[in-house]
Amino acid sequence: MNNQIPANNPARKSWIHVPADSDFPIQNLPLGCARKVNGDYFAASIIGNTVINLETLAALGFLNDLDIDKKAYNQQNLNFLLGHGKQKLRHLRNKLSDLFSLENQSLQEHPSLDRILLQLNEVELCMPITIGDYTDFYSSIDHATNVGKMFRDPSNALLPNWKHMPVGYHGRASSIVVSGAQIHRPKGQTKADDAAMPSFGPSKQLDFELETAFVICAETQLGQSIDVNNAEEFIWGMVLFNDLSARDIQKWEYVPLGPFLGKNFGSVISPWIVSLDALQPFRTNGYTQEPEVLPYLKYEGNGNYDIHLEVSIQPENAPETTVSKSNFKYMYWNMFQQLAHQTINGCNIRIGDLYASGTISGPQPHEFGSMLELSWKGTQPIPMQDGSTRVFLKDLDTCIIRGYAQNQNIRIGFGTCECKILPAN
Ligand code: CA
Repeated sequence: MNNQIPANNPARKSWIHVPADSDFPIQNLPLGCARKVNGDYFAASIIGNTVINLETLAALGFLNDLDIDKKAYNQQNLNFLLGHGKQKLRHLRNKLSDLFSLENQSLQEHPSLDRILLQLNEVELCMPITIGDYTDFYSSIDHATNVGKMFRDPSNALLPNWKHMPVGYHGRASSIVVSGAQIHRPKGQTKADDAAMPSFGPSKQLDFELETAFVICAETQLGQSIDVNNAEEFIWGMVLFNDLSARDIQKWEYVPLGPFLGKNFGSVISPWIVSLDALQPFRTNGYTQEPEVLPYLKYEGNGNYDIHLEVSIQPENAPETTVSKSNFKYMYWNMFQQLAHQTINGCNIRIGDLYASGTISGPQPHEFGSMLELSWKGTQPIPMQDGSTRVFLKDLDTCIIRGYAQNQNIRIGFGTCECKILPAN
């Protein structure tokens, strides 16, 4: 498949400068939504640190041979564009790759080039999609095992259903925001183990969750299910995702219906949707699924992706400290199994839905994807570069997730997913 996508050609170079270790070589070409200060929204892509205005490109006629409605490039989000589906989006990515490759002269001396290309610091990167429904899975076996050990039975950490289905819950879409957000520490009910009654106040156990999420490009009708081995056709790409969680609120409220106010006060996504096409060279095998899964979940081939993930905490006016280095390949359930499971009962999916992976932990302690695990329930403080320590996030901490896939030829990255924690309101 790699060879069938011209935009994936690792030898291709762009006439736009790409700094060393950039997440955005010409082989990436993610989609985002941007605007100049107080300006109109436009669909965008990026090479190096240069943002490409797709609306201008389309208005000048450079995207005429694509079967994409030009109105898709000047919306407040990418929903309409994504809804054109995988084949047309693939043509768009190939077209951009062609226009900006070194050999192509058609744009390099164009008089309107300064309206097509913008520097990253000239624009605001906006929420790329308006999210309809949001699902959060729980698909990392190392994470689920750690949580089971801490809160239930160390010798029986996984619940009986866990290896038979990608467990998940329906979350809240309204509070999912784009990188750069400032999020107030949530207030709520908590109850200490030794307290007789619950109390109310700011969360004392504010945590990040290192996750990714996928974005779809084709809808289904109510009653329709997606075949696990065709699920890829419904997914355009991925973003980084920080599912901020108040552990103390979560612990008291979650029985019996699951996560609620401990999870929905703010979650953050990275602004660029990186296509599965661009990530194609990084496909890999996941954990062996044992016991064998039911037929509707049986995926043929490499359903995982080798994507390096890391989390840093930056205290106010201090250097950042990397606290976790994990990898997307540690997912036990892959995205295609998740989507097949989501729809097996006939639940319909819509453009703009977001499906999050669940916290992605690896087997080693430095690969754990939350402070809950890294500090092992707050018992093992994590040292920071500035001499302070953390067991959970403090006020004015900035939490930064990064992610990239890299081989000897190319690096396909996501940029950053950042948020700053403000004191409780
Ligand atoms: Ca989560």
